[in-house]
Amino acid sequence: MPIKKDFNIQSLIRENVKGLKPYSSARDEYVADGSQMVFLDANENPFENGVNRYPDPQQRRLKSVLMDRKAVPIENMLLGNGSDEVLDLIFRTFCEPKVDNIITLPPTYGMYKVLAAINHIENREILLTENFQPDVDKILERADENSKLLFLCSPNNPTGNSFSEKKMIQLLENFSGLVVIDEAYIDFSDGQSWSKKLKEYPNLIVTQTLSKAYGLAGIRLGICLASKAIISVLNKIKPPYNINELTQNHALKRLQSVSRIRLEIAEILHQKKMVIKVLKHIDFIEKVYPSDANFILVKVDDADVRYQQLLNKGIVTRNRSNQPLCENTLRFTIGTPEENIKLVMALKEIN
Ligand SMILES: *Cc1c(COP(=O)(O)O)cnc(C)c1O
Repeated sequence: MPIKKDFNIQSLIRENVKGLKPYSSARDEYVADGSQMVFLDANENPFENGVNRYPDPQQRRLKSVLMDRKAVPIENMLLGNGSDEVLDLIFRTFCEPKVDNIITLPPTYGMYKVLAAINHIENREILLTENFQPDVDKILERADENSKLLFLCSPNNPTGNSFSEKKMIQLLENFSGLVVIDEAYIDFSDGQSWSKKLKEYPNLIVTQTLSKAYGLAGIRLGICLASKAIISVLNKIKPPYNINELTQNHALKRLQSVSRIRLEIAEILHQKKMVIKVLKHIDFIEKVYPSDANFILVKVDDADVRYQQLLNKGIVTRNRSNQPLCENTLRFTIGTPEENIKLVMALKEIN
């Protein structure tokens, strides 16, 4: 039973996008997949070299593997050149420049703000609470009829924690625009993906990525999971060949290594535990924040000084001090066992 009975996606789509007829690419109907067809439709060089043909604009082979892994039907799935492209498509589909607004919850992922600025959309920032949870009342209070998107990053970057399920449900049920749940770090967490709830919440968009747990940041592949209605309108405005052939092939190959990916995630989580143990014994580290991700946020005595000391030892971390509620914090990504040893040795030396 849909909870939002009155929800109408059409009322959220920009007028120009509603009326848009998408570019019809030469390969929309037929895909060069070794069949006996003769392809003289796209002005390609016919001599085979592995990438002389345009890629499948709908990435059907890749999506069918992802469908099995994510237990989400293909019609509820769109792929982007990184989740950053997916997020940009969402902005351009729903947010009318200089009219609409979005709501973000700092401290959080910096791209929402950048994309809002690029698309000339007001960004209403409602700080997370002291324990890095959404302030539901304040969010709903600041929202108006032009609030098209609410970004919930869970597990959140840079804080590392997941948001309370109850609060997220309150927001899904009461926010009148679309709720975008960014699950870039979901594979490191025990929590289950909100993509299981797409049927219940027609206003839900889930984004994921192969950049973090899947170890494919270099190929740029982001995943958008949403209702069929939302996916089909995003499809209208996406660049026809946004996922190149090399990316599709590489992702397909990597997705075969299910057990290897699982082992790597387990090792990263094990390493995280070990690193946290050491961090708790470093005097200048005042707080180690709980993490459901592959990084740890810590509060230190003086972040600028500690950042520079680590840099002098050849270790690059992220100083998050300029983010609200994150004064004097550093973010450490979990590396290989060798890299983590270097980090903890360096921390002990400068202690
Ligand atoms: C790293 C990250 C992404 C990444 O996106 P890609 O463009 O897919 O590499 C998205 N959201 C958050 C919160 C991230 O930390």
